[in-house]
Amino acid sequence: MEGINIKTFLTLLKEYDSGILSLLRFFRIEEREGKIHLLTKNAEIKRDLEARLGSTLKDPILRHIKVSLEGEDVSVKGERKEPKKEKHPPQEGLNSKYSFNNFVVGEGNRLAYEVAKEVAENPGTLYNPLFIYGNVGLGKTHLLQAIGNHCAQRGMRVVYKSANDFSEEMVEYLKGGKIKDFRNRYREVDLLLLDDIQFLSGKTRTQVEFFNVFNHMFMSDRQIVLASDRHPKDLKDVSDRLVSRFEGGIVVEVCLDEITKLEIIKRKLQDLRIEVQDRIVERLMEETSDNVRDIEGTIKGIKLKGVEHLKKRSEESDLEKVKLYTALHLGVKVEDLIGNKRSKKVNRARHIAFYLCRKLTDASLIEIARAFNRSDHSTVIYGIKKIEEEKKKDRKLNYILSFLEKHILERL
Ligand code: ADP
Ligand code: MG
Repeated sequence: MEGINIKTFLTLLKEYDSGILSLLRFFRIEEREGKIHLLTKNAEIKRDLEARLGSTLKDPILRHIKVSLEGEDVSVKGERKEPKKEKHPPQEGLNSKYSFNNFVVGEGNRLAYEVAKEVAENPGTLYNPLFIYGNVGLGKTHLLQAIGNHCAQRGMRVVYKSANDFSEEMVEYLKGGKIKDFRNRYREVDLLLLDDIQFLSGKTRTQVEFFNVFNHMFMSDRQIVLASDRHPKDLKDVSDRLVSRFEGGIVVEVCLDEITKLEIIKRKLQDLRIEVQDRIVERLMEETSDNVRDIEGTIKGIKLKGVEHLKKRSEESDLEKVKLYTALHLGVKVEDLIGNKRSKKVNRARHIAFYLCRKLTDASLIEIARAFNRSDHSTVIYGIKKIEEEKKKDRKLNYILSFLEKHILERL
């Protein structure tokens, strides 16, 4: 076949696959030197069309068609050549507020900190993977992010993601029949930071895909850093081959000892420009749990409401109050909220209570789960997400929530 013009091209397409024309709406069509150029700004639409064309047209015709991302089509004469768009953003999920500089180092987290720094300086060499584990609120995410920021500044392609998001992303690609694209995404990453690995539990397909990503990166000396609330050995429903990969590099724990806690309190007070007085520091040492997020929350509370607000905390735990008032207003019993009743009404009240506990108290997800007799805090996450979703469209729910928030806040 010699050249091809737009008219012939469209006629052929209609013959083979008339549905494809609707996809073409998203393209600029140009005819140049016997070729048909299809231009779009959207990489995903481009991939869709290519796949569709490939399965529709025969080879000789395909050779006369060129699908390009706009700005990428270098054959366009006279047009300014824009910088080639990266198919994937070089960095994903990083938050610049986390650095090694603002991490307070002490006995309980020194090893993790040192190894994290070493990994950031020399990724993909000595410690691969790095696996950080420890209780909630002790700086695991902070360290992952600090490594990520350090490497991103040096031009590396970094992806930070929770295992949950990784899983959801995988499922989306799988549903769209594009699992290959998913795999390819991770072929272009120099540093993968996967957080809250415990959520891989029971997700068989995600584990298979992650195993492949892992091996691929590992074999090409690219760094993987993982964080979890427990040691690899204690992960539940995670395949043995993954666990053994996790243990194949270095596994370090983060803990919080009293001296470090004291240092962190002083540092966080200074950060918020609150005068570091002994009495405040002492109170904070007593009143807060060994969870830096909790400490930060309490210090922010001092900034907002003054140190007096600390006094009330121990009278009755905030979580108890949220449970009580939510139950009262929604017409259910506290025993039901913390029990196993699954009626629609109780379930919803429980989800609202999870949501309010998260929003109004400094409690961690695990602490909330515990307060409701749940062994697994993914139930709490699920409930909160559900309310957040429904909140977007349910006006009545919004009304209930703001009423409860106001009512409870007055009593905390
Ligand atoms: P984890 O991921 O272990 O649950 P995070 O890394 O999210 O905990 O830490 C919770 C909060 O506490 C974050 O705001 C983090 O910056 C802060 N934090 C934790 N450990 C430290 C530390 N050693 N020095 C300074 N801030 C810390
Ligand atoms: Mg974390």
